[in-house]
Order: sequence, then structure tokens, then C-alpha cells
Amino acid sequence: MSEDFESCLPLVGLASRIATLEDRLEVLSGGRTALLPVTKGFGPDVPQAVLDVGRNEVGENYAQELLAKHRVLTDIGATGEVAAQIRWHMIGGVQSNKVRHLADVVSLWQTVDRIGLVDELVRRAPGARILLQVDPVGIPGKGGCPPSDVEGLMSRAVDGGLEVAGLMAVGVFGDDEATAEVFRTVGRMADDLGLPERSMGMSDDLELAIEHGSTMVRVGRALFGERPR
Ligand SMILES: *Cc1c(COP(=O)(O)O)cnc(C)c1O
Repeated sequence: MSEDFESCLPLVGLASRIATLEDRLEVLSGGRTALLPVTKGFGPDVPQAVLDVGRNEVGENYAQELLAKHRVLTDIGATGEVAAQIRWHMIGGVQSNKVRHLADVVSLWQTVDRIGLVDELVRRAPGARILLQVDPVGIPGKGGCPPSDVEGLMSRAVDGGLEVAGLMAVGVFGDDEATAEVFRTVGRMADDLGLPERSMGMSDDLELAIEHGSTMVRVGRALFGERPR
């Protein structure tokens, strides 16, 4: 993606959409579940708008896109303070060769799912805060490791000085029953491992995720509308 972003969504009303969703999360979870706005597919004005309404965490899926927005917001902020205030979560698959470019920018790596990526983070992003992405059902193309890999990844990461904050999972599109089983399994694993964070749930399955103990829902469309591409 280059820097000519499409920007087509009504940012008017964003403050109240975020507040309404946060209220709903509060009611559903008793304050246990935080909201992570997902700004992938939109231009840098969207993370900027999130910051403007007093929130500072955003999720992005693609390294190039995240870095391009970070760069634009750094330029706007002259001294970089706008981009620096945003805590960028990487929620899409990361190629190991992208880690060094992202190392100074990403505050939570949510998709760590293999030894090679753990090792590259240890080398290039010392002390990074990470979630291990788990996929108990083997959904093609969505990333995530099988449950049997988690303990090995965790000890490798901890030995390398990374902070393993929790687990992340993606539901099964269009299948509530399978999705519930994913969330249940991953929540139980986090319990067993003593990991506090469970990043589970998106626009379409956040209630199910909260029922199964999500501490962070990653929400794009329910806040920003359909993505341009
Ligand atoms: C795109 C994406 C989201 C947000 O999805 P919405 O359906 O727009 O809420 C959340 N998590 C991941 C991993 C994603 O890729």
C-alpha cells in the first residue's frame, strides 16, 4: 500500500460510537473487556480520529500499512508526537523480515505463532510485549499455532526476555458453535498458563468472546463501517 489512502468513512459520530460500544462491553463483561479499534484499510485520519476522541490504542494488520500511517502521522506531528501517542497493535500475520522495521513502532505483537518469529523478536525487539496466537481448529490462512505449540513458544519467548502477556485467537467465520469452542479452548489455556490477556472477538463475535472471558475485542467495522477495499 502506498500513501494515497482512501478515506471514505464518517468520522463524525465516532466518539459516541466508541462510547456506546465501551458501555456495552462494560455491561457484558463487568469491566473486564477492553476495546481495541481496528483501523486497517482506512487512511491515517482514522487512527488520528481515534486519538482525537481520547483513545490511543489501534490495531493494524499489515506491516507496510501500519508503517505508512505511522510515517504520515509522524510528519503531521512535526516532532512525531501524534504517532508516538498511538499504541499500535500488530494483529495481522508478521513475516520475520518485517520485525526490524516494526520494532520501534509496535507496542503489542498479537500474532506470535512460531519459533522463527519469537527468535526474531528476541533479536530485534528486545523485551517486546507479545500475545501468542492460537488456532485450535486449523483455519487456513488465519495464522495461529496449534495448542500443542504454545508452551514451547512461551518458554522460548520468556527465556529470550519477551513479555508474554496472553493469548490471541480468531473465530471461525460464520460458525458460532466452532467459534465458541475456539474461545473456550483458548480461554482455558490462558487460565492454565496463568496469562492475563485474551484477545478474542471482533465485530461479529464479540459477545461470544466476552462470554468466554475475552479481555480485549478487536473491532473494525462496527466502529468505522465497511472497509474501502
Ligand atoms: C480485521 C480484523 C479485525 C476486525 O474485524 P471487524 O470484523 O472489522 O471488526 C479483528 N481481528 C483481526 C485479526 C482482524 O484481521
